[in-house]
Amino acid sequence: MSDRALELSGVSKIYPPPTTVTALTGIDLVVDAGETVAITGASGAGKSTLLSILGTLERPTDGTVRIAGTDTSALSDPQLSEVRATRLGFVFQQFFLLEHLSVLDNVATGLLYRGVPARVRRERAAEALYEVGLASRIRHRAGHLSGGERQRVAIARAIVGRPAVLLADEPTGNLDSTTGGGITELLSGLAGDGTTVVLITHNADVATAMRRQVYLRDGRIVADTGGDR
Ligand code: ADP
Repeated sequence: MSDRALELSGVSKIYPPPTTVTALTGIDLVVDAGETVAITGASGAGKSTLLSILGTLERPTDGTVRIAGTDTSALSDPQLSEVRATRLGFVFQQFFLLEHLSVLDNVATGLLYRGVPARVRRERAAEALYEVGLASRIRHRAGHLSGGERQRVAIARAIVGRPAVLLADEPTGNLDSTTGGGITELLSGLAGDGTTVVLITHNADVATAMRRQVYLRDGRIVADTGGDR
Protein backbone atom coordinates (compact mmCIF):
# COMPACT_ATOMS: atom_id res chain seq x y z
CA MET A 1 0.00 0.00 0.00
CA SER A 2 1.38 3.35 -1.05
CA ASP A 3 1.79 6.26 1.32
CA ARG A 4 1.31 8.56 -1.63
CA ALA A 5 -1.88 10.50 -1.23
CA LEU A 6 -1.75 12.10 -4.67
CA GLU A 7 0.30 11.38 -7.74
CA LEU A 8 0.02 13.36 -10.96
CA SER A 9 2.11 12.38 -13.90
CA GLY A 10 2.37 14.38 -17.13
CA VAL A 11 -0.95 16.09 -16.49
CA SER A 12 -2.11 18.70 -18.94
CA LYS A 13 -5.44 20.41 -19.39
CA ILE A 14 -6.55 22.10 -22.57
CA TYR A 15 -10.02 23.62 -22.42
CA PRO A 16 -11.81 22.87 -25.69
CA PRO A 17 -12.79 25.32 -28.44
CA PRO A 18 -13.96 28.00 -28.80
CA THR A 19 -11.58 29.19 -26.05
CA THR A 20 -8.87 26.51 -26.46
CA VAL A 21 -6.89 27.57 -23.41
CA THR A 22 -3.94 25.49 -22.24
CA ALA A 23 -4.44 25.73 -18.47
CA LEU A 24 -1.89 23.12 -17.36
CA THR A 25 1.15 21.58 -19.05
CA GLY A 26 3.24 18.58 -17.95
CA ILE A 27 2.37 18.62 -14.26
CA ASP A 28 4.27 16.01 -12.23
CA LEU A 29 3.36 16.15 -8.57
CA VAL A 30 3.63 13.59 -5.80
CA VAL A 31 2.12 14.40 -2.42
CA ASP A 32 2.71 12.02 0.47
CA ALA A 33 0.17 11.18 3.13
CA GLY A 34 0.19 13.79 5.88
CA GLU A 35 1.82 16.55 3.82
CA THR A 36 0.46 20.08 3.79
CA VAL A 37 0.83 21.84 0.45
CA ALA A 38 0.08 25.40 -0.64
CA ILE A 39 -0.48 25.98 -4.34
CA THR A 40 0.33 29.57 -5.23
CA GLY A 41 0.78 31.67 -8.34
CA ALA A 42 -0.76 34.63 -10.13
CA SER A 43 -4.34 34.72 -11.27
CA GLY A 44 -4.74 32.58 -14.38
CA ALA A 45 -1.71 30.41 -13.53
CA GLY A 46 -3.84 27.25 -13.37
CA LYS A 47 -4.35 26.82 -9.60
CA SER A 48 -8.12 26.23 -9.74
CA THR A 49 -7.77 23.89 -12.67
CA LEU A 50 -5.16 21.89 -10.78
CA LEU A 51 -7.34 21.70 -7.67
CA SER A 52 -10.33 20.59 -9.78
CA ILE A 53 -8.24 17.83 -11.33
CA LEU A 54 -6.93 16.74 -7.92
CA GLY A 55 -10.55 16.68 -6.77
CA THR A 56 -11.66 14.61 -9.80
CA LEU A 57 -14.10 17.37 -10.72
CA GLU A 58 -12.29 17.80 -14.03
CA ARG A 59 -10.53 15.17 -16.08
CA PRO A 60 -7.09 15.98 -17.48
CA THR A 61 -6.60 16.15 -21.25
CA ASP A 62 -3.43 14.10 -20.82
CA GLY A 63 -1.58 12.31 -18.05
CA THR A 64 -2.62 10.29 -15.03
CA VAL A 65 -4.03 11.16 -11.62
CA ARG A 66 -3.78 8.73 -8.73
CA ILE A 67 -5.65 9.35 -5.53
CA ALA A 68 -4.63 7.26 -2.53
CA GLY A 69 -3.18 4.74 -4.98
CA THR A 70 -6.17 4.56 -7.34
CA ASP A 71 -5.64 5.53 -10.97
CA THR A 72 -8.67 7.68 -11.74
CA SER A 73 -8.33 7.73 -15.52
CA ALA A 74 -10.14 4.42 -16.03
CA LEU A 75 -12.98 5.25 -13.66
CA SER A 76 -16.52 6.05 -14.77
CA ASP A 77 -18.26 9.19 -13.52
CA PRO A 78 -20.16 7.27 -10.79
CA GLN A 79 -16.88 5.67 -9.68
CA LEU A 80 -15.28 9.13 -9.52
CA SER A 81 -18.18 10.33 -7.36
CA GLU A 82 -17.45 7.42 -5.05
CA VAL A 83 -13.77 8.45 -4.85
CA ARG A 84 -14.85 12.00 -4.03
CA ALA A 85 -17.30 10.85 -1.38
CA THR A 86 -14.90 8.46 0.35
CA ARG A 87 -11.37 9.82 -0.11
CA LEU A 88 -11.67 13.56 -0.59
CA GLY A 89 -12.95 16.47 1.44
CA PHE A 90 -13.56 19.96 0.05
CA VAL A 91 -13.44 23.38 1.68
CA PHE A 92 -14.26 26.58 -0.19
CA GLN A 93 -13.86 30.30 0.38
CA GLN A 94 -17.65 30.72 0.61
CA PHE A 95 -18.31 27.98 3.27
CA PHE A 96 -21.53 26.72 1.51
CA LEU A 97 -23.41 25.87 4.71
CA LEU A 98 -27.15 25.24 4.93
CA GLU A 99 -27.92 28.34 7.00
CA HIS A 100 -31.23 27.16 8.44
CA LEU A 101 -29.83 23.84 9.69
CA SER A 102 -28.00 23.29 12.95
CA VAL A 103 -24.23 23.12 12.99
CA LEU A 104 -24.47 19.39 13.80
CA ASP A 105 -26.77 18.65 10.86
CA ASN A 106 -24.56 20.63 8.49
CA VAL A 107 -21.60 18.45 9.42
CA ALA A 108 -23.67 15.24 9.33
CA THR A 109 -24.52 15.98 5.67
CA GLY A 110 -20.87 15.21 4.93
CA LEU A 111 -21.76 11.54 5.49
CA LEU A 112 -25.03 11.45 3.53
CA TYR A 113 -23.61 9.43 0.66
CA ARG A 114 -21.74 6.95 2.85
CA GLY A 115 -24.63 4.72 3.77
CA VAL A 116 -24.12 5.55 7.46
CA PRO A 117 -27.24 5.50 9.70
CA ALA A 118 -28.47 8.90 10.89
CA ARG A 119 -27.55 8.29 14.53
CA VAL A 120 -23.96 7.40 13.60
CA ARG A 121 -23.78 10.40 11.25
CA ARG A 122 -24.64 12.67 14.15
CA GLU A 123 -22.15 11.00 16.51
CA ARG A 124 -19.34 11.38 14.00
CA ALA A 125 -20.40 14.95 13.27
CA ALA A 126 -20.15 15.77 16.98
CA GLU A 127 -16.64 14.29 17.07
CA ALA A 128 -15.56 16.32 14.04
CA LEU A 129 -16.99 19.49 15.62
CA TYR A 130 -15.03 18.77 18.76
CA GLU A 131 -11.87 18.50 16.65
CA VAL A 132 -12.39 21.90 15.05
CA GLY A 133 -13.08 23.52 18.42
CA LEU A 134 -16.84 23.98 17.99
CA ALA A 135 -18.25 21.46 20.45
CA SER A 136 -20.12 24.25 22.25
CA ARG A 137 -21.92 25.36 19.06
CA ILE A 138 -23.45 22.04 18.01
CA ARG A 139 -27.08 23.11 18.39
CA HIS A 140 -26.66 26.60 16.95
CA ARG A 141 -28.06 27.48 13.58
CA ALA A 142 -25.30 27.79 11.01
CA GLY A 143 -26.73 31.15 9.95
CA HIS A 144 -25.99 32.59 13.39
CA LEU A 145 -22.26 31.92 13.35
CA SER A 146 -19.32 34.21 12.65
CA GLY A 147 -17.26 33.76 9.49
CA GLY A 148 -14.48 31.91 11.28
CA GLU A 149 -16.97 29.58 12.97
CA ARG A 150 -18.66 28.91 9.63
CA GLN A 151 -15.37 27.89 8.10
CA ARG A 152 -14.73 25.57 11.07
CA VAL A 153 -18.10 23.94 10.42
CA ALA A 154 -17.21 23.56 6.74
CA ILE A 155 -13.90 21.95 7.72
CA ALA A 156 -15.69 19.59 10.14
CA ARG A 157 -18.07 18.63 7.31
CA ALA A 158 -15.08 17.98 5.04
CA ILE A 159 -13.25 15.74 7.55
CA VAL A 160 -16.22 13.91 9.07
CA GLY A 161 -15.81 11.08 6.54
CA ARG A 162 -12.06 10.83 7.33
CA PRO A 163 -10.89 11.60 3.80
CA ALA A 164 -7.32 10.86 2.74
CA VAL A 165 -7.03 14.32 1.22
CA LEU A 166 -8.57 17.65 2.11
CA LEU A 167 -8.65 20.15 -0.77
CA ALA A 168 -9.25 23.79 0.05
CA ASP A 169 -9.77 26.72 -2.32
CA GLU A 170 -8.79 30.02 -0.65
CA PRO A 171 -10.12 28.84 2.73
CA THR A 172 -9.19 32.12 4.44
CA GLY A 173 -10.23 34.38 1.55
CA ASN A 174 -13.35 35.68 3.33
CA LEU A 175 -11.80 36.03 6.79
CA ASP A 176 -9.82 38.71 8.59
CA SER A 177 -6.18 37.86 9.20
CA THR A 178 -6.54 36.79 12.86
CA THR A 179 -9.50 34.52 12.13
CA GLY A 180 -7.78 33.26 9.00
CA GLY A 181 -4.69 32.46 11.06
CA GLY A 182 -6.78 30.20 13.31
CA ILE A 183 -8.20 28.38 10.29
CA THR A 184 -4.72 27.96 8.81
CA GLU A 185 -3.49 26.48 12.08
CA LEU A 186 -6.44 24.11 12.18
CA LEU A 187 -5.79 22.93 8.62
CA SER A 188 -2.08 22.36 9.16
CA GLY A 189 -2.89 20.54 12.42
CA LEU A 190 -5.03 18.01 10.51
CA ALA A 191 -1.89 16.70 8.87
CA GLY A 192 -0.77 15.44 12.28
CA ASP A 193 -3.58 12.87 12.04
CA GLY A 194 -2.39 11.77 8.61
CA THR A 195 -4.81 13.84 6.54
CA THR A 196 -3.15 15.38 3.52
CA VAL A 197 -4.02 19.02 3.01
CA VAL A 198 -3.69 20.82 -0.34
CA LEU A 199 -4.88 24.39 -0.55
CA ILE A 200 -4.84 27.29 -2.95
CA THR A 201 -3.94 30.65 -1.49
CA HIS A 202 -2.90 34.15 -2.46
CA ASN A 203 -1.88 34.85 1.12
CA ALA A 204 1.85 34.51 1.87
CA ASP A 205 1.25 33.77 5.58
CA VAL A 206 -1.12 30.93 4.74
CA ALA A 207 1.31 29.57 2.15
CA THR A 208 4.27 29.53 4.53
CA ALA A 209 2.19 27.85 7.24
CA MET A 210 1.99 24.80 4.97
CA ARG A 211 5.07 22.58 4.99
CA ARG A 212 5.41 22.66 1.20
CA GLN A 213 4.82 25.36 -1.39
CA VAL A 214 4.18 24.67 -5.07
CA TYR A 215 4.32 27.69 -7.35
CA LEU A 216 2.54 27.71 -10.71
CA ARG A 217 3.15 30.01 -13.64
CA ASP A 218 1.41 29.72 -17.01
CA GLY A 219 0.18 26.22 -16.19
CA ARG A 220 3.55 24.82 -15.15
CA ILE A 221 5.15 24.13 -11.79
CA VAL A 222 8.07 26.57 -11.65
CA ALA A 223 9.01 26.05 -7.99
CA ASP A 224 8.29 23.28 -5.49
CA THR A 225 9.89 23.29 -2.05
CA GLY A 226 9.22 19.56 -1.73
CA GLY A 227 9.66 18.56 -5.32
CA ASP A 228 12.95 16.69 -5.05
CA ARG A 229 11.56 13.33 -3.99
P1 ADP B 1 -6.09 30.38 -11.38
O1 ADP B 1 -6.92 29.54 -10.48
O2 ADP B 1 -4.61 30.26 -11.09
O3 ADP B 1 -6.55 31.80 -11.45
P2 ADP B 1 -7.39 28.88 -13.51
O4 ADP B 1 -7.07 27.45 -13.31
O5 ADP B 1 -8.72 29.39 -13.07
O6 ADP B 1 -6.21 29.77 -12.86
O7 ADP B 1 -7.26 29.24 -15.05
C1 ADP B 1 -6.13 28.87 -15.86
C2 ADP B 1 -6.42 29.27 -17.29
O8 ADP B 1 -7.48 28.45 -17.80
C3 ADP B 1 -6.89 30.71 -17.44
O9 ADP B 1 -6.35 31.22 -18.65
C4 ADP B 1 -8.40 30.58 -17.51
O10 ADP B 1 -8.97 31.64 -18.26
C5 ADP B 1 -8.57 29.25 -18.22
N1 ADP B 1 -9.82 28.55 -17.84
C6 ADP B 1 -10.18 28.17 -16.59
N2 ADP B 1 -11.36 27.51 -16.62
C7 ADP B 1 -11.77 27.47 -17.91
C8 ADP B 1 -12.89 26.92 -18.59
N3 ADP B 1 -13.85 26.25 -17.95
N4 ADP B 1 -12.95 27.08 -19.95
C9 ADP B 1 -11.97 27.73 -20.61
N5 ADP B 1 -10.87 28.26 -20.04
C10 ADP B 1 -10.76 28.14 -18.69
